[in-house]
Formats: sequence, structure tokens, C-alpha cells
Amino acid sequence: MTALTQPKRLAAFDFDNTVIFGNTDTVVRDLIKCKIPPEVQELIKTEGWTRYMEEIFRILHTNKITKEKILQTIREIPEVPGFVKLIKTLHKANFDLIIISDSNSEFIREWTQSHGISEIFTQIFTNPANFVDNDLLTIKPFHHQTTCKLSAENLCKGKILSNFIAKREVADFIKYENVIYVGDGTNDICPVMRLREKDVGCARKGYGMKRILEKNKNSKLSPKSRIIYWENGFDLMEQLREYLNQ
Ligand SMILES: [Mg+2]
Ligand SMILES: [Zn+2]
Repeated sequence: MTALTQPKRLAAFDFDNTVIFGNTDTVVRDLIKCKIPPEVQELIKTEGWTRYMEEIFRILHTNKITKEKILQTIREIPEVPGFVKLIKTLHKANFDLIIISDSNSEFIREWTQSHGISEIFTQIFTNPANFVDNDLLTIKPFHHQTTCKLSAENLCKGKILSNFIAKREVADFIKYENVIYVGDGTNDICPVMRLREKDVGCARKGYGMKRILEKNKNSKLSPKSRIIYWENGFDLMEQLREYLNQ
């Protein structure tokens, strides 16, 4: 650590089913009232979720579902109780905050802006998306990776987390004393596997991430960090209290 290096803490959040009570992609997909063609459905297996969503957005467009309707649907997704408060509290406690999500930039920007928390994130890592002519939402994969087998080709959350931490140290002289990672899904396992003893992995009760962590307990696939299981933002805040008081 150089003399210039500032100690800080980092909280990294998944978005769908962690911060918000639901999944942005499926909520928007459900605006389509006709049957999804089997060849589009098939894309989930053959080309991955992001490619599938690209087609879903095209169908929304064909069905004249407007940008405003889509964004309104996003804004109306409720938070997981207590999460907006938790995020604001961590920010006040001098945490850096990031989101790492397989949703997309339009949805996350819309939801965080409408809930008054968009400004407090240092960075949001997700699939880039934007509306083009006549309300068509287009989406691209965040990256393309084939080295991490725990993650999908379009998004290795572990790599994103490690790269962010390394870059902060080299470029901004910020070294994270503790890293807290909060998620719910199976794609949140990879980042937690990269945490250190002094970090905390937080898995939502009743979801895939917790299931895998429990299955791997006491095996070499078990993470080094402390693991917390949470139900909502309020009990998670309670469990993280020791990190909030300094
Ligand atoms: Mg999730
Ligand atoms: Zn990975």
C-alpha cells in the first residue's frame, strides 16, 4: 500500500431479485400478449439470455409497446423491502457502491433514477442497451468470455468485480478493506468465490445462490469469505451493522 492509498469499503449488488422485487426482463417480456415463437424461445439455450432478450424487445416493438410503457413498467417494480434504505445507509457509511447485473443499462438507470439512488453508484456494470428510432430497445452483451465456467459468456460477474477492485487501486489509489457482495442467483456465485476472509457474501434466502453455497459448504468450492443469508434489506442491514458504525 502506498502512502497515497485510501482505505475504503465496497458494496457490490446484483439487481434483479436482489435490489428489486422481480426480474426486469421477465416483467417487460410479460407485456407481450401473444405467444412467443418457439424459435425465439430456443435462443435461451442456443445463444444465451441476452440474445433472447434482443428478440423479445423486437417483438415488443412489433406489438407497438412504446418506450414509455416499458419504462413505466420498470419504474413500477417494487424494491425488495428495505433495499433503498440499505443502499443509502451504506453510502452514508462511506461505502463505494456498484451494481453488477445481467439486466441492461436502460432498465437499471430508469429504476435507480426513479428511486433517487442513481447518483450514489460509483459504476453500473450491465449489458449496454438503448432505445433507437420508434421505441425499439436494442441490447448488446457486456463482454464475451469463455474462460470462466461458473458464468455465462456475456457476463462473468467475478471478473467484473476483480477488475473493478484492481483498477480502483491502480488508478484511484483506493484499497477496499472489506468487500460486501449481495445477490440471489446462481450467477452470483462466481464473484463470491473471489472474496477474501475479511469480505462478506450475502445470499438471499430461498434462491439459487444460497442453495449452491449450502451444497458446497465444507468443500473446496466453498468461498473464503463470511456468508450471510438475508430475507430483505432490513434484516440484511441488521446483519451488516458492524460495518456501518465506523
Ligand atoms: Mg438476481
Ligand atoms: Zn465468472
